[in-house]
Amino acid sequence: MKILIVGAGPTGLTAALEFARRGIIPEIVDAKKSPSELSRAVGILPKSIDTLRASGVADKIIEEGVGLERLVIHYNHKVLLDLDALKFFEPRDLPIGLPQDRTETIMSDALGKMGVKIKYDCKVIDISTNQKEASVTFSNNESKKYDWVIGSDGVNSTVRDKLGIKYAGYELPEIWSIADLELGSEYNSGTFNGWLTGGAEKDIFVMVPIGPKRVRLVSSTSDSVKSLPAKLDIVNTKRVGAFKISIRQAKTYLKGRVLLAGDSAHTHSPVGGRGMNLGIDDAVEVVKAILDEKTHEYNTKRRKIGAKTIRNTERARKAITSTNPIVAIFIRLILFLVQHIPYVQKMFLMKMTRL
Ligand SMILES: Cc1cc2nc3c(=O)[nH]c(=O)nc-3n(C[C@H](O)[C@H](O)[C@H](O)COP(=O)(O)OP(=O)(O)OC[C@H]3O[C@@H](n4cnc5c(N)ncnc54)[C@H](O)[C@@H]3O)c2cc1C
Repeated sequence: MKILIVGAGPTGLTAALEFARRGIIPEIVDAKKSPSELSRAVGILPKSIDTLRASGVADKIIEEGVGLERLVIHYNHKVLLDLDALKFFEPRDLPIGLPQDRTETIMSDALGKMGVKIKYDCKVIDISTNQKEASVTFSNNESKKYDWVIGSDGVNSTVRDKLGIKYAGYELPEIWSIADLELGSEYNSGTFNGWLTGGAEKDIFVMVPIGPKRVRLVSSTSDSVKSLPAKLDIVNTKRVGAFKISIRQAKTYLKGRVLLAGDSAHTHSPVGGRGMNLGIDDAVEVVKAILDEKTHEYNTKRRKIGAKTIRNTERARKAITSTNPIVAIFIRLILFLVQHIPYVQKMFLMKMTRL
């Protein structure tokens, strides 16, 4: 079976690992000149780690990353919620904080050992398909035919666009920001910190530890470092950036012999840290669907799951950035109940960390 995976982000790399561990060597190409050193996702959820156990990369991710064992939510300068996840979960079931580029490097190294070589600087520029095969043209003008192509080429997917698959949705006007910082001293190590600020929980900040004395900030403000409502001992700002959020989903994940997975199929806000994890999950399912000849089921099932994730992340984003005082009171009430009822604590943590 001739398989092409377009895009070596976390989705494409997982799909390649899933084939390779079954002894099927796919081709995998990426338009980038070399592996990325930039990182967007930092939180790997327990389900993704379990998934990656089969290809042998989970242990390395756990070893390099930081187990997120505590969740603290601040409302302005007051702590509203402080949960110890180790009361309810084993250390092996914790989410892990690790920059996306490190996750990708661990995956690429494992692929190398399985005999899969990622071809960088190789962009797909055109694709067509029928019920039997897909024909792909690369940036070096070479054209090849494949039994199956997985389009895991991200939000601006060429595969999706060249096949005329609509990516319906919208872009939010607000500018969010991101920063990677090195600290002189640890700040709540192993803790996922969140801040809700403003008169009516207008701005949000999250801070995820991604290494010893290293943290990632994400904020709904345009400068997460300047406006963070906490004092940090910053010794080095490794990266700052700004981004806009799009909420979109492809009209179909299947056309002829091409399947979409990951951000090429769906995108939403980083609230809840679901994007990369959903892509990893898609990748596992797309490989199974190809091997079990159940690609139509993949399309139906994964579109539903994608739509549900978009709905949930949008509901959460709208709630925590709402300026409506009633919503603000409701959020504080929920956090109060969570803090004081152990059963609700467990349910809340499950909801936060399960796909
Ligand atoms: C600020 C921010 C924070 C985030 N935090 C989290 C988080 O904590 N947890 C989480 O789960 N998610 C998070 N996400 C989302 C996450 O980063 C994405 O969902 C994830 O990267 C999607 O992976 P992917 O492999 O589908 O696509 P990408 O990572 O976008 O990879 C696509 C790859 O395809 C390649 N490519 C593109 N076009 C072509 C072409 N024509 N030919 C060949 N190759 C091509 C690109 O070079 C790229 O390497 C965050 C996103 C942002 C913006």
